[in-house]
Formats: sequence, structure tokens, C-alpha cells
Amino acid sequence: LNDSNVKVAVRVRPMSRREKDLTAKCVVEMEGNQTILNPAIAVFAYDHCFWSMDESQKDKFAGQEVVFQCLGESLLDNAFMGYNACIFAYGQTGSGKSYTMMGSAEQPGLIPRLCSSLFSRTMREAGEGESFTVEVSYMEIYNEKVRDLLDPKGSRQTLRVREHNVLGPYVDGLSRLAVASYKDIESLMSEGNKSRTVASTNMNEESSRSHAVFNIILTHTLVDLQSGTSGEKVSKLSLVDLAGSERAAKTGAAGERLKEGSNINKSLSTLGLVISALADQGAGKNRSKFVPYRDSVLTWLLKDSLGGNSRTAMVATISPAADNYDETLSTLRYADRAKSIVNHAVVNEDPNA
Ligand code: ADP
Ligand code: MG
Repeated sequence: LNDSNVKVAVRVRPMSRREKDLTAKCVVEMEGNQTILNPAIAVFAYDHCFWSMDESQKDKFAGQEVVFQCLGESLLDNAFMGYNACIFAYGQTGSGKSYTMMGSAEQPGLIPRLCSSLFSRTMREAGEGESFTVEVSYMEIYNEKVRDLLDPKGSRQTLRVREHNVLGPYVDGLSRLAVASYKDIESLMSEGNKSRTVASTNMNEESSRSHAVFNIILTHTLVDLQSGTSGEKVSKLSLVDLAGSERAAKTGAAGERLKEGSNINKSLSTLGLVISALADQGAGKNRSKFVPYRDSVLTWLLKDSLGGNSRTAMVATISPAADNYDETLSTLRYADRAKSIVNHAVVNEDPNA
């Protein structure tokens, strides 16, 4: 009943300065819900195709607001019904993952828009006997180690992933901060983003190899004023900015064995294997196929979001330029595969909390 496929969207960014200077050719076309990569070897259909390539094409252009309306609003609907939800951005470095998830001050992306809309809704819906609490956490997974991006003590220590027998996998010791307004979240986000970059000696290198996971935990408490009993619904939103996918092609996705001690791409390559296994299950090919969630930190933490108790969307980001043809094709194929994943979402409700 509550089974739903992972929603898959593709977004093509504008030409970069460099690509414009080189007068790179645009090899991507979008037509309705189809994406065509030229020379066309295949036409791919997705749930959404976002044409962010050329702002002057008013009827076609999809900016940050359109992306939020198509993906963010329904995610919030789910959260307010008590479902877990997840959006992850996948694509090669420089294709627009961080722009889509976080954006900039002038062009805020999905995360800030979700947070701001979430607070307007809690304000609107809260009333007598009905209240909401919002908590956030923000972490980075780099080389199979978890780092807390909101650690108030600013310590650099790495955290361990554990599994609770009811609540599932979690990061032991990760800060979970209560926020009362959008302003609170905004300042935490910018602190977290700073700590993501300041920490690294080689910023581009590290941020292209690390996964950033922003979590919002929404608790909805209802009190029956007559009987005095209360119940609560808890939902977790996971917003994931993945490492550059060019790394996946070079390791697990291509089936190559990882070298001992080289864990840097392990989460991304395992994600590819998990998606493959789930896609086979979803397509009815192999229902009992083993899914290697536990093989990496990222997939273990996202277990519920991938084929589990969650409504999940993936945004695959691509470059329009001819010289990225191979990476773009592999991203489109990966996204195509993710379409067959089926999730089983249930409302996280405790009537006697
Ligand atoms: P990634 O996180 O995938 O490595 P970024 O999000 O950092 O890539 O994007 C690379 C560059 O392209 C940035 O300067 C970003 O502002 C720009 N960019 C990406 N997507 C868009 C878009 N849809 N519209 C405008 N600029 C974009
Ligand atoms: Mg990025």
C-alpha cells in the first residue's frame, strides 16, 4: 500500500565560464520528462527533468524555486504525515549537487527552502494540544569516518556508527540541536558549511570526496485535551550531498575490487552496489538478492532511505558540455537504475509516547 518508487530527477546546469570560453557544445536536450544525450544512444525518462541550462528560455527554465516546488513540497507533506523522507544529489564534481542542495545566499537551494517552509508550516499547524519540535544534525563522511559539522566544542574527533534494535543505525555522539526558528537553522547551517571547508588543506579535493548529510527531525505531539493522553509522530528528513560520482566509476560501480586500506570511495561504490541490488529486487528480477548496506558508513546510515522506511528522491546533476559526455551518460544510467527501487514507508507513530 505504502510502497513507492524512488523519485528520480535530472538537472542540467548552465555552461561554466570555462566551458563558455572554450565554446563547448551543448549535448543535452530535455523534452517534457525525457532527457536526451546527443549523439543520442538512448532517451531516458525520469520523474522530473530540470532545464537549468539557459535562463533566457523562460517557458522551459527551472530555477531553484521550481526544483523546490517539484521535490521539496511533497517531501514536507510526507514529513508532516509522519513518514521519513530523503533527497540525495548524485553527479560528477562540478555538476551542481551543492548548488541544488544548499545553493547560495542569493539562490538558496533545497535545504534552506525546506527548513524555511517547514517552520512556516509548524507555525500554521500548531495550536491547542498540538505542537512541533525540530532538531537538526549535520555530518560529513570522509574516508569512512563520520565528523560532526555542528559539534559545539569544535572537536575533530571521528564518531562511530551503531545500530539500535528499534531505531536502526545511528551515529553515536552526533550533536542533535533543537532549533526554534529558521534563523537558528540558518546560522547552524553556515557554521556547518564553514567547518566543512576550513578543516581541509585541499578544499576541492576533500569536498569532492566527502558526503555531507543534513538531517532534520520533526516531532509532532498531539494531546487529547479531554483524556489527557498524548501521541507523537516522528519523521526524519535526510538531505544528502554525495561525493563526486567520477569516483564511483573508478571503483565499485565498475565491479573492481577496492584496494586494501583505500576506503575513500567505499561509501560511494557501495551505494552503487546497494542501488543495483535494490533495483533488481524492485524490477522483480531477484527478490531475495542480498543488499550490502553494512559494507559502508553511508549506506548503513541511509539504510532506511534506500528500499526501507522512507519516501526518497534522487537528483542527478549533469553538465551540458560535450567534454563531459562520458560522465553524463554514466550519471543518466545510474539515475535510470535508481527508478526501480521500491521503498516501503510507514508512519512513525507512537500513540502512547
Ligand atoms: P558540485 O557540488 O556537484 O561539485 P557545485 O554545486 O559546486 O557542483 O556547482 C559547480 C558550479 O556551477 C558552482 O559555481 C555553481 O554555482 C554552478 N552551478 C551549478 N548548478 C547550477 C545551476 N543550476 N544554476 C547556476 N549555477 C549552477
Ligand atoms: Mg559540492
